[in-house]
Amino acid sequence: MSGIAYLAFLFLHTRDLFTSWLWLWATVGIYAASVALRVIGQARWSTGLSKATVQVLVNNALAVYVERPTKCRWRAGAHVFIRFVELSPYQSHPFVIASIPGDGQLVFIISKKNGITRRLYNKAEERKDMEWKTRVLIDGPYGGPLRDPAAFDTVVLFSGGVGAMFTFPIMSDIIFRMQNEGKVHCNNIVFVWTIRSENQMKWLKNEILRFASANETSVYVAVYVTDPNFSDGNVDILPPNVTVHYQRPKLGEILERALERNQGSMYVIGCGPAPLIARASNETARLQKEVIAGNASGEICLYMETFG
Ligand SMILES: Cc1cc2nc3c(=O)[nH]c(=O)nc-3n(C[C@H](O)[C@H](O)[C@H](O)COP(=O)(O)OP(=O)(O)OC[C@H]3O[C@@H](n4cnc5c(N)ncnc54)[C@H](O)[C@@H]3O)c2cc1C
Repeated sequence: MSGIAYLAFLFLHTRDLFTSWLWLWATVGIYAASVALRVIGQARWSTGLSKATVQVLVNNALAVYVERPTKCRWRAGAHVFIRFVELSPYQSHPFVIASIPGDGQLVFIISKKNGITRRLYNKAEERKDMEWKTRVLIDGPYGGPLRDPAAFDTVVLFSGGVGAMFTFPIMSDIIFRMQNEGKVHCNNIVFVWTIRSENQMKWLKNEILRFASANETSVYVAVYVTDPNFSDGNVDILPPNVTVHYQRPKLGEILERALERNQGSMYVIGCGPAPLIARASNETARLQKEVIAGNASGEICLYMETFG
């Protein structure tokens, strides 16, 4: 709405001086085309309003389960814009689809901030069963890694906090395809998740255990808890390829180890707070220089998203 008002005032303000309206009409055309594309995409993907359940999770997080629109297809790591029509019909917010295309529903894990996410949290929290049933409009999917991660020999996934909602479906999708399609190239996955409190592991613990123990030789999961004061000692039964550490991860060392084991190409993917992403990107660039200098072999690609 504010964009439309801004354009209208630009028309009034410029009064076609120096043929400025020509450029403004071109802007209107591009904007109208983008709206039309969105509407067509939405009509193709969903059937309008979808039923959704908002559920309170530990550590100020929410899970949102949305009935899967009939024709929806998406790439692991893609996000959609969700409009919670009963709460705020004029706002739509981006969230990554935490479930994988093989699942029956769309799942989103959302951390509570101060705006609509707080209002959503309060709505669910005030219910006895901590669940609020509502309807949402889904716009998307958009984004996701540019290249198919399953086509790389090694995939290293770095995430911080809720940023794991981007990296986790990528890991799940590769493992799902390894088990069900059997024709993926990837044979080594390293999943590194930095969280402040051990409690946060509960957001994904069952899913991590399900996927990590399914294929022990090729999947390695390391969870780094950065504030040991937030430990509830509740992570004792883990398969050998899932480890919990009480320190910050040494991203450079993790990458070097992955590169040593790597037989060909490696994809480094990350999502989380800006400092984590900057460190992961710099360490990857350092190794890319080693490859260029001929001190290491293989191709190393990088893809980063910042939220978390
Ligand atoms: C591609 C993408 C995928 C994301 N996926 C997830 C996810 O899976 N789980 C999750 O918890 N969070 C995710 N986020 C972040 C999430 O969109 C914001 O935390 C959420 O919109 C905040 O809403 P709020 O009104 O409570 O925020 P506020 O408390 O008002 O603001 C908190 C922060 O969110 C940013 N923000 C507010 N509104 C928007 C908006 N419409 N679009 C983008 N950023 C906004 C603000 O700039 C601020 O930095 C994602 C963001 C992007 C860009």
